[in-house]
Amino acid sequence: MRRRLAAASVIVAIASLAIADERLTARERAWVAAGMPVVQAARARGLPIDIVVQPSDQPEASPIALGIADDRCHLVISMRGNPSADALAASIPAERFPAIVEAVFAHEVAHCWRWTQGVWHALPAGFADAADDDAQAREPEALAAMRREMREARREEAYADLVGLAWTGQAHPRDYAAVRDWLSRFRDDALPGDFHDTSAWLRLAQDPSAFGRESDPFRAAQPLWVRGLAVGDRDTDARAQHVSESNR
Ligand SMILES: [Zn+2]
Repeated sequence: MRRRLAAASVIVAIASLAIADERLTARERAWVAAGMPVVQAARARGLPIDIVVQPSDQPEASPIALGIADDRCHLVISMRGNPSADALAASIPAERFPAIVEAVFAHEVAHCWRWTQGVWHALPAGFADAADDDAQAREPEALAAMRREMREARREEAYADLVGLAWTGQAHPRDYAAVRDWLSRFRDDALPGDFHDTSAWLRLAQDPSAFGRESDPFRAAQPLWVRGLAVGDRDTDARAQHVSESNR
């Protein structure tokens, strides 16, 4: 999740391994075991999720990412020969490991949810991407397309971060503040306006009560995500605009 995830319909070469496979490293086994409650909950909701471990060194890969292949979500773990995986592991206090790993898995599962709902890169009803404003209209087409792609990816990252926190609020309420702070620090590495600059949304989730009483983390994240779309416009380059406002 640190680097750009494998986009839907694009997945890197992978090798399937059974979860309890002795070929897994101790670190991989610990992550898969800790994340399993999230995966089982997702499967119970009917999400088609497989866990895939890349057995070869992946120095450039995101340690955990989600890809789509053969109409299934692949939660891809790339921890071998990967400095980002070492940094990720080092960033997690031992006592928070279960809660943070579940939040990370819930983040990836949220990507799967969006994809299975057929709304990947889609804005909610009532919002439009304001790619045709004056400043952007003067940009070269390639640059405008890059910005649009950046906005679309950032919105998905924001939704997934919120699902991760919604899950945390229910599964690990005592760890909520620690997980949220960890995620904020992790996201601080992102440049303003980058794919992973989800700060506008994380600020809306300072407290788990922000998610209300909805028990489904995918639904619980939705209202905050929508609110963040408007806030994010000003803070970053996320130019989603409420249609009724942009038409005034
Ligand atoms: Zn992500």
